[in-house]
Amino acid sequence: MKIGALEAGGTKMVCAIGDENGNIIERISIPTETPEITMPKIIEFFKAAKVEAIGVGCFGPVDLNRASAQYGYITSTPKLSWRNFDILGNLKRELNVPIGFDTDVNASALGEATYGITKGLDVSIYITIGTGVGVGVFINGQLLHGMLHPEAGHILLERHKEDTFGGSCPYHQNCFEGLASGPAIGKRYGKSANELSDCDEVWKLEAYYIAQALYNYTCMFSPNKIVLGGGVMHQKQLYPLIREEFKKIMNGYIDTKEVRDLENFIIAPSLNDNQGILGCLELANREMRLLL
Ligand code: ADP
Ligand code: ZN
Repeated sequence: MKIGALEAGGTKMVCAIGDENGNIIERISIPTETPEITMPKIIEFFKAAKVEAIGVGCFGPVDLNRASAQYGYITSTPKLSWRNFDILGNLKRELNVPIGFDTDVNASALGEATYGITKGLDVSIYITIGTGVGVGVFINGQLLHGMLHPEAGHILLERHKEDTFGGSCPYHQNCFEGLASGPAIGKRYGKSANELSDCDEVWKLEAYYIAQALYNYTCMFSPNKIVLGGGVMHQKQLYPLIREEFKKIMNGYIDTKEVRDLENFIIAPSLNDNQGILGCLELANREMRLLL
């Protein structure tokens, strides 16, 4: 069966064709311009492939409430031409196939939980630290939605006493994204994050913030594993620093076999950057099952 996958991002739209077992057959990337320019290209690709269902993992915030009139809309994004755009409706009208829809980070969480390192676990969390910070929560076989979807990139953290940077989030001074996203690092040091690899203090402070967030997520969701992806996590030295800081903050409080083995608890993605696309394929599978 031919299934389409769309990883809709703020800079590029990755479109792929695969099947219901997670085999990826073909993939293209289309720059994200305006909906008027970009959507027809996406639609043409899926039409030509004659896909029977599609899964979409979309940058957000998005409306995921099936009872809402705006279900499937991109809502308050800073990308103005996409604000309040009915991306799901647009695809449905043109392609007329079942379409599963979720956030980009939820798609990645689902990809890992279906085909990757968190397969078979009761609770797993996927965090992306890049242009923004996104968190996808997979609980007992389902992605967590509720009234919206978790906005756990905006949890408040305790600022390091020597950190005078005001934060990059327009809404909060001390949120995770505002203190630790790629752009936050860039603004704090006046240099882009990928040029700071050799600067140890940058990654120590970054680990200090990430570990606090992970500690909070661990206390709230009791995950069996936490996966950390996104551009900033290309700095591999972060993983051991985060584990070390996490252990300090935990201070022995939760004492499970998982927390005693942080190398297998706080981990990197396992699917060679295909976790998002594979998650989209699974979103399509799940939508088809729902419609049966
Ligand atoms: P996006 O979040 O836009 O989907 P990414 O996850 O690749 O995409 O995140 C891009 C951000 O990650 C950039 O703001 C940049 O600061 C940061 N980044 C990208 N590559 C690196 C790197 N090698 N080291 C540190 N930061 C990086
Ligand atoms: Zn914020």
